[in-house]
Amino acid sequence: MRTPMVAGNWKLNGSRQSAVALAGEVAATEVAGVDVVVCPVSLHLGDVSQALKGSSVLLGAQNACAEEQGAFTGEVSSTMLAEFGCQYVIIGHSERRSLFGDSNESCAARHKAVVAAGLTPIFCVGETLDDREAGNTMAVVESQLQAAFDACGDNAFASAVIAYEPVWAIGTGKTATPEQAQEVHAELRQFIAARDQQTASAVRILYGGSVNPGNAAELIGKPDIDGGLIGGAALKSADFLAICQAAAAQA
Ligand code: PEP
Repeated sequence: MRTPMVAGNWKLNGSRQSAVALAGEVAATEVAGVDVVVCPVSLHLGDVSQALKGSSVLLGAQNACAEEQGAFTGEVSSTMLAEFGCQYVIIGHSERRSLFGDSNESCAARHKAVVAAGLTPIFCVGETLDDREAGNTMAVVESQLQAAFDACGDNAFASAVIAYEPVWAIGTGKTATPEQAQEVHAELRQFIAARDQQTASAVRILYGGSVNPGNAAELIGKPDIDGGLIGGAALKSADFLAICQAAAAQA
């Protein structure tokens, strides 16, 4: 049985003060049976970590460098993130891929570095609307996973979480139907099973893309959807907690 997970990607939002307040609000409600994760900007990790102390809410970062240290201006390494209490790192978010040029190969290298540091990547895959309309959804998402297999070997996802996030659904208010999402999740699991059956059964595959309190239960109710990666709705504690509760109801 896979424990559901709900992770909030706060993106580039908030101030030190508002991040601490949001973390405190999320931490104040214990949601049993769900791994709840919040991912603030790196600069807020220390403050948010303090605000989460004593709660079961886990801390994640939004990106990590593939390198441990050296001449990589502006980057943050996995070991540095771990020092701040991070357990998860989002890798390959579509905004990183489209706005900052993170290629399949660089995402795979980051994934490898996160695992090597003992943290858990939340490895994002997803197709654009053009990809979907051209019938290329599975080819695109499988090539994104394949890059990690190439870099890390057949057990690349043994200590990882995957997030399927159709690019056309992120921040747009358009959600994949539960059936569309389930279809991709099931095929991703099969793709992993071809390399590592045990991991395929155990790995959590989250859905991300305009999840909200109104659609979370139906999405997370699907057999291969193990939770959500939440953007906009993660910035309102009531909405985020309602999504966590919807996941708990599926546990
Ligand atoms: C995201 O950025 O990972 C995301 C899913 O955003 P939203 O929920 O706002 O679509």
